[in-house]
Amino acid sequence: MKYLFLTMLCLLAAAVQAQQKRDFVLVVHGGAGTILKSKMTTEREKQYNAGLKSALEAGYTILEQGGSALDAVEAAVKVLEDNALFNAGRGAVFTNEGRNELDASVMDGKSRSAGAVAGVTTVKNPVSAARRVMEKSSHVMMSGAGADRFAAEQGLEIVDPSYFFTEDRYRALQKIKAEDSLKTELDHADKKDGSFHFKNTDSKFGTVGAVALDKNGSLAAATSTGGMTNKRYGRVGDSPIIGAGTYADNATCAVSCTGWGEYFIRLVMAKTVSDMMEFGKITLKEAAEEMILRRLPALGGDGGLIAVDSHGNIVMPFNTEGMYRGYIDEKGKPEIKIYKD
Ligand code: ASP
Repeated sequence: MKYLFLTMLCLLAAAVQAQQKRDFVLVVHGGAGTILKSKMTTEREKQYNAGLKSALEAGYTILEQGGSALDAVEAAVKVLEDNALFNAGRGAVFTNEGRNELDASVMDGKSRSAGAVAGVTTVKNPVSAARRVMEKSSHVMMSGAGADRFAAEQGLEIVDPSYFFTEDRYRALQKIKAEDSLKTELDHADKKDGSFHFKNTDSKFGTVGAVALDKNGSLAAATSTGGMTNKRYGRVGDSPIIGAGTYADNATCAVSCTGWGEYFIRLVMAKTVSDMMEFGKITLKEAAEEMILRRLPALGGDGGLIAVDSHGNIVMPFNTEGMYRGYIDEKGKPEIKIYKD
């Protein structure tokens, strides 16, 4: 009898936890990587916090007034794209050839419609181009020159590719190239098999993303990135791939990922979290932690994700040193974190 009572109590506690009810909530990330407090200046930390805060506030204004999760994630990601600190939009990293090729995607959990652009070079806000693909074309993904052209036809702001040039990112490319050529000299095996150096270092991360639950119970997710420093021409990561870097379904959750894209694609990360909830009947927390803390490192990858379920439960797991992240709900107070704590 006592045992039965205790079991029921535990089940009830679990149910209450799973049903945490928020009116609305917005979560953002600004990338995961080797982000160490020991390497961060107070000034820079302040700038990151301010950047994440403005993104949260932009989305909050929309959600608070009863706007859609879709509008909120687009608005939040646009703020981060316009901030050179983050590897998306203005602050995009450089390819091996010294170009900036940007990827973005968006998904609406209500209709499960989605849009994405890959390898654009002239669209100021790739997340808005992704949304136009979703709403104004019969496609889900457009890439390269075609996607740039479509964005221009849609009246989106077009910039000269030099808009994406930032000194910091350019220096990061030179540094990685120098390290790689040194490694090539030391390690002939790499040269013989023609393998391309594509390591995972701090300077490669900084992708941005947002997920939200609105007052009507709808979910949405958006992700935007410059990809990874020194990526090869034409390389596309997980961020614009629906199901890998981004996914949203009102029945389960909305997810936006950041990390070493090749691994996120192979794990079909975002959709797998959703599937684990739907078919495995587990919570968002259990699903996200299983993927980010166990399956991702088991395969050799790293990174993190942000996600929200239809009850407003949020998760922000990562297996790197840090992840720029934060959330805001109906209380209107932005909560921001950078390191592991
Ligand atoms: N996932 C992105 C990519 O592989 C990079 C990142 O999140 O930092 O393109």
